[in-house]
Amino acid sequence: MSQLPWQSQLQQALKERQAAGLYRRSRLRDGEQGVEVVLDGRKLLSFSSNDYLGLAAHPTLKKAFTEALDREGVGSGAAHLLTGHSRYHHQLEEALAEFTGQQRVLLFSTGYMANIGVIDGLLGKTDVLVQDKLNHASLLDGGRLSEAQQLRYPHADMALLHQRLYTAANSRNKLIVSDGVFSMDGDIAPLPEIMDLAEQHKAGVLIDDAHGLGVLGQNGGGVIEHFELTQQKPILVGTFGKAFGTAGAFVAADEVVIETLVQQARSFIYTTAQPPAIAAATLASLKLIKQESWRRDKLQQLIKQLRDGATQLGLPLMPSQTAIQPLLIGDDKKALKLGQDLERQGILVGIIRPPTVPKNTARLRITLSASHEAEHINKLLDALELSYVH
Ligand SMILES: *Cc1c(COP(=O)(O)O)cnc(C)c1O
Repeated sequence: MSQLPWQSQLQQALKERQAAGLYRRSRLRDGEQGVEVVLDGRKLLSFSSNDYLGLAAHPTLKKAFTEALDREGVGSGAAHLLTGHSRYHHQLEEALAEFTGQQRVLLFSTGYMANIGVIDGLLGKTDVLVQDKLNHASLLDGGRLSEAQQLRYPHADMALLHQRLYTAANSRNKLIVSDGVFSMDGDIAPLPEIMDLAEQHKAGVLIDDAHGLGVLGQNGGGVIEHFELTQQKPILVGTFGKAFGTAGAFVAADEVVIETLVQQARSFIYTTAQPPAIAAATLASLKLIKQESWRRDKLQQLIKQLRDGATQLGLPLMPSQTAIQPLLIGDDKKALKLGQDLERQGILVGIIRPPTVPKNTARLRITLSASHEAEHINKLLDALELSYVH
């Protein structure tokens, strides 16, 4: 037994959460991540992973992983600054610096930790952090941990970002932070405008492109390539758990910025390096991302097919050109019911409710992958017609 004196309060809070249709639970998956997944023992057609390019179970990644495993074992055994930094990690950092066109790259064990570390490492007490209100939880949490002053602007509202920067005019350093592609909406941040405002106000910019990298841009360079930024670039956070199909994350920036993070980012310093085999698999994934542009092309075709079909059915898909295609429902319980209804028809979508999204904007988060086929999209549209339209 390990009881807390206030356990009855916890019980009550759990009950209320359940009654409000806000309860969350993990489902048990067997087998590989893919278009079809076995969840709680039942095979479902999945529109609910972030494996946007279909690489998570790709044979080339598996091979790179097992080869590295044979050479270097499982655990990295220590933090990067001790003995945990293997040659695979090093090669991955170099390859990513070249891929992103930035001076240097630093690996982090997860995207959550990269975001916390980069904010913590670059800002101090007299500084200001200016965030889009819909930024990923890890960026918002990075702000909460940091001593910098916090300002937020309404989603993608450049006039109000401008105003916030005026408000912060007298503080020492200012960092604007935004998702590249917003994780629950799928829309793309107005990066050129953000860069202009930053220049005008002498602010830095940090972009978390967890959902754009690999997916957007001719070479999969993400939102930066999408907007063809070549001169002044933002500091970039990328994650490997989405289109890369592996795990972990990186920050790409100028030498001085990266060296500062090495010295100061606590979530880099005080944690065990990822297993080297993960870095080896990520290297293999990066090669596929660069070479196999057909994956991005196919994904775009599937997105178009879904959006055209949804328009015909009058479904309220949110405006998005990315793999994230949310269907806005509004009411929490209605979203839950619709999601469960689809699942009865063998189709899995993400059911997203507050506090992950603002109140009254519950939605079904439909995500597409390059490994879906046209027939899968048709099945989804048929099921939506049955459950939503009728
Ligand atoms: C998934 C995600 C993260 C967290 O990355 P992990 O590697 O899963 O910890 C950070 N930012 C955004 C926008 C994400 O979608």
